[in-house]
Amino acid sequence: ACCTVSGGATSHVAILARSMGLPAIVGLDPAALELEDGITVVVDGNEGLLTVQPDEAEVESVESTMQAEEKTRAEEKKRAEEPAITIDGIKITVAANVGDISSAAQAVELGAEGVGLLRSEFLFMNRSVAPTEDEQYDAYLEVAARMGKERPVIIRTLDVGGDKPLSYLPIPEEENPFLGERGIRVCLNRPEILKTQLRAILRVSQKFDVRVMFPMIADISEWRQARQIMQQTAEAIGIPSIKTGIMVEIPAAALLADSFAAEADFFSIGTNDLTQYALAMDRGHPKLAAQIDAMHPSVLRMMSIVAEAGRKRQIEVGVCGGLASDLEGIAALIGIGISKLSVDIPVIPTVKATVRRLSAEKCSRLVRDAIRMSDAGSVRKAFKKLIEESRGEN
Ligand code: PEP
Ligand code: MG
Repeated sequence: ACCTVSGGATSHVAILARSMGLPAIVGLDPAALELEDGITVVVDGNEGLLTVQPDEAEVESVESTMQAEEKTRAEEKKRAEEPAITIDGIKITVAANVGDISSAAQAVELGAEGVGLLRSEFLFMNRSVAPTEDEQYDAYLEVAARMGKERPVIIRTLDVGGDKPLSYLPIPEEENPFLGERGIRVCLNRPEILKTQLRAILRVSQKFDVRVMFPMIADISEWRQARQIMQQTAEAIGIPSIKTGIMVEIPAAALLADSFAAEADFFSIGTNDLTQYALAMDRGHPKLAAQIDAMHPSVLRMMSIVAEAGRKRQIEVGVCGGLASDLEGIAALIGIGISKLSVDIPVIPTVKATVRRLSAEKCSRLVRDAIRMSDAGSVRKAFKKLIEESRGEN
């Protein structure tokens, strides 16, 4: 397990822990640093509770819970390859969030129907120069080859800045890095980096179904500039352009989703950033972390706008933020009309099992109530009840 005294549930340390299937608590009371080495603790990642020196009865109870959970996981894994269809017949595509090459194979084993988010930063981090076009080509090709021809791979272009700095792409010190040069802004200011990445992706598209999406789009002009760079790059190397989409993770883009839907091939909602910007709470903030919940009615309303815009234009609307890997979140997203969930690899079988127990109709009725609620806690409570009922019914 892993515990930190900083960060929040959607900060990148937490994302890494989840992608490795590690129980984790982030943003613990700094008093935890005073704990002696070698003492026994229980890390309950579900509830965010660290129990120091549990007694024998507590240890026994934790062990039996862990055994029961393991049994459930094993059952879920047996059906991992099967599609995820709600009890009223709505098919939900379950794809993987991938942050390195080797985990793509594991994603397939656990039933991923594609990669909904390839965080391409892994190629750019922990090195002193940017990766070359050929290095990137090899990496994307390997991920795509492991997924195979039938499973689309959505590659997100470089998303650095904010809490992901790069030594060879210095960004002048900013007072508010999350409101500064981040995501697509970094690339539009350095088009050569973007062009190199797009060339590598386009070359892979000649063999596999790879798609591109741009992170942190706030304004239609940014999208148009990025798409133009895409089209010019494709033309320059004589390869047809590929499906190009937008990460909807800034409230401005969510609210204007109808304008974007007229031009983009797909949307993927990034609930981690969408929530931090909607609530004006830094996703890495230890004190505010507990309040940063994508089940907030304001975030649900924005996602409904995005889903509706996608439906009208018949473009795919997926979710690749942390809410798609969250039990109650899954029910809310199905209710909103999201048809694709891109999730942390270890939870793919659990996400599919959850979908199979739900009624899309009931989820959508509850969403209609939820968007009129006044806080995330009430929404979560209502969906928790729905999840519990669905367990009882099946
Ligand atoms: C998001 O913001 O929800 C997202 C998926 O992107 P990242 O967590 O990498 O910022
Ligand atoms: Mg993001």
